[in-house]
Amino acid sequence: MENWACEYEMVAGLETHAELSTATKIFCGCSTAFGGAPNTHCCPVCMGMPGSLPKLNQKVVEFAVLAGLATHCRINLYSRMDRKNYCYPDLPKAYQITQFEHPICENGWIRLQNGRKIRIRRIHIEEDAGKLLHEGESIRIDYNRCGVPLIEIVTEPDIRSPEEAREYVEELQKILRYLGVSDGRMQEGSLRCDVNLSVRRQGETDFGERTEIKNMNSLSNMVKAMEYETRRQISLLEKDTPILRETLRYNVEKGKTESMRGKEGADDYRYFPEPDLPPVILTEKDIASIRQALPELPEEKYQRYTEKYHIPPSDTRLLIKYRSVAEYFEKAAHGLQNVKTAANWILGPIFARIPTEAEKERFAPAVSPIQLRELLQLLESGKIPLQPAKQILEKMLDTGESCGRFITKEQLSPLSEDVLREACQDAIRQLPQAAEDYKNGKTKALKALLGMVMRSTKGRAPAKDAEKYLMQYLE
Ligand SMILES: [Zn+2]
Repeated sequence: MENWACEYEMVAGLETHAELSTATKIFCGCSTAFGGAPNTHCCPVCMGMPGSLPKLNQKVVEFAVLAGLATHCRINLYSRMDRKNYCYPDLPKAYQITQFEHPICENGWIRLQNGRKIRIRRIHIEEDAGKLLHEGESIRIDYNRCGVPLIEIVTEPDIRSPEEAREYVEELQKILRYLGVSDGRMQEGSLRCDVNLSVRRQGETDFGERTEIKNMNSLSNMVKAMEYETRRQISLLEKDTPILRETLRYNVEKGKTESMRGKEGADDYRYFPEPDLPPVILTEKDIASIRQALPELPEEKYQRYTEKYHIPPSDTRLLIKYRSVAEYFEKAAHGLQNVKTAANWILGPIFARIPTEAEKERFAPAVSPIQLRELLQLLESGKIPLQPAKQILEKMLDTGESCGRFITKEQLSPLSEDVLREACQDAIRQLPQAAEDYKNGKTKALKALLGMVMRSTKGRAPAKDAEKYLMQYLE
């Protein structure tokens, strides 16, 4: 908790731009692929040549509706494209086609772990602008990104700390990825956040004057920028200096927010209905058929894993962060008596070999979920004890081959009863204190003895039998 938090409250809302994963741009057939030589994914429509006419990509509407349904929004049957006029070289038309008065989705929410709901005011469709490349004195322009479809997700000012902002963006990212509507990669610019932030004294209900920090392209920079800007605004309030309504950028090297320009109001953009495009009309039937395409969402998976499978919340969050990991887990756990084992093995030895987030997102370990399940079934049925099974998994991960190849006769053949009984007697001799404790009613002491049996048999002892013999000898 920051030291200002007992006296002041931070109030923030987020505007998040997500590039949609459609194959083609929003109003033409040009490719949306990231990268590519500058100005090779362009045509007269996305370059804004006189006489060219836009045509709305229906996939964009479908993706925006999916995002709205997954965030509990109302989907508007009537929405409309508008022109937002501004003159800047990243936009050759000198206007952006967006939705102003009639957005496609409104009034949704995303829930945080602390139970608070961050309300979503609206989600609207718009086109992206080109990129300016600064090279020494000169500025070059790449229009490949011009006309790439975006949705902008705007929250109410419900966020009260940088950590809540981070969690909200992570949840949103997860939902968009599950839906397959955006890859949500901040480092590639396919997800970008603007933060509106003000402060007020604890207990006040009116909002203070706000500033807008533009284009946060990483979560850690967003958190730092919000912390800095909160402290800056508080220090102005303490000095009775008014806070200016302005647009800021975060200077990563200096760790400071800096003024870019005065804040524009809606009037500055002279919005008006886009004359080249008809309104976007949906029917209840359209929405119902898009709803059919909704996958099970992270929130629902969370409920199911924690309540039905009894997987601890922290492990569940790791399993559901990427859809590919969750799907792998479900295939590997299918039909097992104890699905928790599958979770532990994925989060333990398998994750250990997949250290980066990018690799986890793709999630393609050398061992397939079916191969893992095969091994876990042998473990569950008692055909292979725990330690050898773990060693076999490592070999499978090295080679990508199934467990059959690595199971030796020694691992499969159970210990003879004599050897096991001897190991149990040995353990009691070596741990007299534990034996004594058990006799005095401390049933937990049996665990220590069992551990000793496992160590001396290199994990080959069937746990149930070992427990049975230990109890016999202790009585
Ligand atoms: Zn084009």
